[in-house]
Amino acid sequence: MTKIGLEIHCQLTNLESKLFCSCKANYREFSPNANICPICVGLPGSLPLLNKKAVEKATIISMALNCKTPEKIAFFRKNYFYPDLPKNFQITQYDAYGPTSIGHDGKIIVEGKEIRIRRIQIEEDPGRLIYEGESEKTQITLVDYNRAGTPLVEIVTEPDFENPKQVRVFLNILVDLLSNLGVSDPTLEGALRSDGNVSVDGGNKVEIKNVSSFHDLEKAIHFEITRQQSLVERGIEVISETRQWDDRRKITVSARSKEEESDYRYFLEGDIPWIKLSSEHFNKLKEKMPKSINEKDERLKTEFQINPQESRIISTNKKFSESFDEIYATCVPPSDTDKFFLTSIPEASTHPELKRPDPKDPNVKIKYGNEISHLLINTVMALQNFQKMLDTKEFRETIALISSLKVKDMIPMTVLNDILHNYEKNKPSLSEIFKTIDFKKISDIGTFVKLVEEVFAEEADAVKESKSNPEIINYLVGKVMKKTKGRADPQQTLDLIKEKLKS
Ligand SMILES: [Zn+2]
Repeated sequence: MTKIGLEIHCQLTNLESKLFCSCKANYREFSPNANICPICVGLPGSLPLLNKKAVEKATIISMALNCKTPEKIAFFRKNYFYPDLPKNFQITQYDAYGPTSIGHDGKIIVEGKEIRIRRIQIEEDPGRLIYEGESEKTQITLVDYNRAGTPLVEIVTEPDFENPKQVRVFLNILVDLLSNLGVSDPTLEGALRSDGNVSVDGGNKVEIKNVSSFHDLEKAIHFEITRQQSLVERGIEVISETRQWDDRRKITVSARSKEEESDYRYFLEGDIPWIKLSSEHFNKLKEKMPKSINEKDERLKTEFQINPQESRIISTNKKFSESFDEIYATCVPPSDTDKFFLTSIPEASTHPELKRPDPKDPNVKIKYGNEISHLLINTVMALQNFQKMLDTKEFRETIALISSLKVKDMIPMTVLNDILHNYEKNKPSLSEIFKTIDFKKISDIGTFVKLVEEVFAEEADAVKESKSNPEIINYLVGKVMKKTKGRADPQQTLDLIKEKLKS
């Protein structure tokens, strides 16, 4: 039987500072070796000071993965020599004297199968090595310590996966779970990384490291299973080793013989005392825990009667689920006929004709909950790539802006896509861009005819061809729509073009 286990490294990207010093946890914005201090590069005499918030975030992850949490946690030194590790040891957690890392014996259910979580530990990220050219042939290796000391949580599973597909489903669930908890932004490069352990019947365990994406990990595991099975079938021993994924050749290659635990010579980190976790610590965090994706999903389906597909999309996306609640909380539908007009409560309360429905009324929930759900889903395609660029607040504002502009009715998604695609953060702001756009449909026939004439002049070849190939007419309609930034009525445009082709 094939056995697969995972070690997932999750950076706590939402923290301000590194794990043991006040350097920035967001190392990505710095030029090389500009985000370092004596502590994170381990200069003699420097002392680590544990980041309390990191312990809180790690506890939240531990609780969300149904782990047991010990009363006291301890830190250990894991010794190894590698240029990305300035201290020659990594401060991490280890269960030498019973469980002392932030979580153990957890589980999550993946497609009905229980995947056990062996351990969750807090540790520091090493620096980064940058090779000039290909890593095997390079003469020069550069090292950047900006990342050294960044807070990480390592999640170690039991070898409970039986095939690469289960791994993929698990990782997708984990990504959603971590981003829902607000501990990590999985869209950031290197924020989530995973190594895999693979063994087949009659062979030893092989570790796969340095896989840059979850997608590649799935491919690497697939390759390893085939390679190992073929060795066993031919009576050749599968050596216990670490292998690297070669992205170019799409194979795994032997990296080094696998270190045993004893090679790391773990010992207690004497500069950090044992830390007692009080019941107060857990209770406070339990209160702050966001609703799980399943709880959100259930609530949307029962309270608002959102259909299961839409409900799942909204509840798995933190920004969408927050937007849903925020828009619902501020939405005041002025009348049945103007159902997409969502305006804020203060405005509504001063408007004599607007009567605010009771947001707690079950029928109001169903009616407006569904409208908001459709609105979110309708803009989801356009916003999916875009949301990576915006923080949650900006994202919600954009959604509110789009909803108030009645974009759904007024400008086609292609135009919205165009705006978002060309949008550069901070200059100018999105609301300024929206202000400059004329959303009114073109009603003046003179303007219209002129635009059609322009397109006919620019697309002379297409016009000639369209006489024998009616499909080309759609192309011309598209050109006119583009010129008007979607403000033309497509049917009217089509009629005009047809008429002009006849003449
Ligand atoms: Zn530092």
